Amino acid sequence: MLHHVKMTESILNDDDSSVMFKEQVLRILLNISNATVAIKDLRKLMGIIREELGKLMDSTNFYLALYHPEDDTFTMPYFSDLKDHFERVPARKTLSKYVVKTGKTILVRQPDFEDLVKKGEVTLVGTDSKVWMGAPLRVNDRIIGMIGLQSYSDENTYTDADKNILELVAHQIGLAIDRKQKEEELEIEKTYFEQLFRNVPEATVIQEYPGIITDVNVAFTKLFGFKPQELIGKSLDKLIVPEEMMQEAYSITRRTFEGEAVELETIRKKKNGKTLEVSLTVTPFRISPDKTIMYTIYRDISKKKEVERKLVTAKEKAEEADRLKTAFLTNMSHEIRTPMNAIMGFAQLLSSANLTPENKTEYVNIIKNSGDSLLRLIDDILDLAKLESGQVVIREEITDVHEMMESLYLTFSRLITEKQLELRYKRYQDKPSVNILTDPIRLRQILTNLLSNAIKFTHEGYVEFGYNISVPDNVLVFFVKDTGIGIPQDKMEIIFNRFQQVDNSKTRLYPGTGLGLAISKHLTELLGGRIWVESELNKGSSFYFTIPYKALPDEEMQKIDDLNEGNLNLSGKNILIVEDDEYNYLYLHEILQQAGVNVYHAVNGREAIHFVKEKQGENIDLVLMDIEMPEVNGYEATAYIKKEFPRIPVIAQTAYASMEEKTKCLQAGCDAYLAKPLQINDLIDEIKKYI
Ligand code: ADP
Repeated sequence: MLHHVKMTESILNDDDSSVMFKEQVLRILLNISNATVAIKDLRKLMGIIREELGKLMDSTNFYLALYHPEDDTFTMPYFSDLKDHFERVPARKTLSKYVVKTGKTILVRQPDFEDLVKKGEVTLVGTDSKVWMGAPLRVNDRIIGMIGLQSYSDENTYTDADKNILELVAHQIGLAIDRKQKEEELEIEKTYFEQLFRNVPEATVIQEYPGIITDVNVAFTKLFGFKPQELIGKSLDKLIVPEEMMQEAYSITRRTFEGEAVELETIRKKKNGKTLEVSLTVTPFRISPDKTIMYTIYRDISKKKEVERKLVTAKEKAEEADRLKTAFLTNMSHEIRTPMNAIMGFAQLLSSANLTPENKTEYVNIIKNSGDSLLRLIDDILDLAKLESGQVVIREEITDVHEMMESLYLTFSRLITEKQLELRYKRYQDKPSVNILTDPIRLRQILTNLLSNAIKFTHEGYVEFGYNISVPDNVLVFFVKDTGIGIPQDKMEIIFNRFQQVDNSKTRLYPGTGLGLAISKHLTELLGGRIWVESELNKGSSFYFTIPYKALPDEEMQKIDDLNEGNLNLSGKNILIVEDDEYNYLYLHEILQQAGVNVYHAVNGREAIHFVKEKQGENIDLVLMDIEMPEVNGYEATAYIKKEFPRIPVIAQTAYASMEEKTKCLQAGCDAYLAKPLQINDLIDEIKKYI
């Protein structure tokens, strides 16, 4: 600043102008200099400069031209001219270009111009002016353009003193442009880094000593669920470090501010308290000699860790499966070979001559028993495969539990005759019968497995079995207790897994495949219950399992009793059951036959139509129609029957107990509608209504 003022002074002294003029020039130059600092907008600045300049000389036609060497053109960010107006023009051999090329401030009148033209330095562009003045703009010793003034009327408008002033003004403008460019560059750089920080997908946070948050990016707020204003100015550790990790977090902060970069995997918590596994990359940045900031990137590695854990478990499982497979194969080989040897051996003996009839019977029995063992083994394997693939369907029927237990007692009593064992069936409250709804085949299978094991693993003492009804839980609790070898504590869970035995060794004492309990567990769960064991080594084991206590209502029982006692008499009546499911058919058949009904069966709608059409239509008293059947369904079959034999009552039965379904059945012509599973009660009521 001062420097320019001195320069002006010396210029003015040279020109020997009046003191007042000197002061005015200085003031104006000062104004211009101030304006270059205060005013950011270049156009506006040029306007002010023009105005100020106007106080000293004619500034009507004033312009700023920036030179672009890459295509030899000028752009004119500011142009105030009475005659000409340019925005981007070729530079070529203009006077402006001449100023830029030579770096000199010039004052050109007509003769000077012609001189320059003659020398081939310039050619005329624009309107011919009387006097023209131009000064180069310098930024760091590089000429970036020029400012020009011209007059179209008076060739004496400008003096050499004006030329000097213009040069000073050009210098000011050059500085202003330089400053502006630097500011712009800085702004761009700042925005660039700001955007980069804000939007990188990695959760990033900046902290100042001793761990206070000064900035966070979008990914960070998203990952931890905080809003920026909940974070800035707070201690990060207090917000996201779980209590048990505090010491570790303090140590990270301390080490970072001591200048160490830290990387580790750890646990952090979100705003909602949920923890997540993260990897941290912490870097210290020294931003001034006495200030370090801590720059931390957080990556959520919960998913990665989960996958890692799953892989480890999968590997362990695979290894375990492999081990089990080997054990299983060895085991199977033994289990198959033992009965096979017996079969082969005794079959050979059978073919030899001079066998007594007793020998023969004994051998045949051994072969038969061995065959049975093999068959059981195959059944078990198939059963488990079906259970594991969800193919076993439970078929609930009215089951007399007491009767089943009695029958099991009889069967197993016969099997333990060679052992020093007592078999006890503990009857429940001396009730004559307990009827429930369950799958009797599967229930029997579970009890058979448990009883076989109890007898197999017990050498002396007793095996006791029975059941209780737990009213609060509404379950039947079955038990099979023995005074056998017992089960070690650590095996009590795993014996319910397939192929798992307490003793998996080749030299084990007890035969078996390790499938029985796995099957029993699957079956209990399918029936809606659970299974467990209590045991003490060398003392004995007690296996328990539950099933839902679906008691039958008294009225229902009365119906069954009626049926059993022949009170419901439908003898001589002909009923056609249209049903594709064999079990359902057998169930209905059983009930109706007990009431003396002649039962006919069609396995689908097509067969039903054929049956009434070809044969017995006239004689049928009632049709029980299943709805969902292959080929021809219940609606179509009903429609046909009702058309040909309107007098035959049709009772529909379907698994879909909706109002819509009922309406559909009635529309097809059915007289009544029953939802599956059929309650005997309802069934008999309906039949009675129509027969
Ligand atoms: P298996 O009897 O064919 O080996 P299970 O699945 O029925 O297969 O039984 C698995 C294992 O559980 C048996 O091998 C045995 O080690 C143990 N186990 C089952 N029941 C008893 C019991 N009543 N007493 C002692 N151990 C038993």
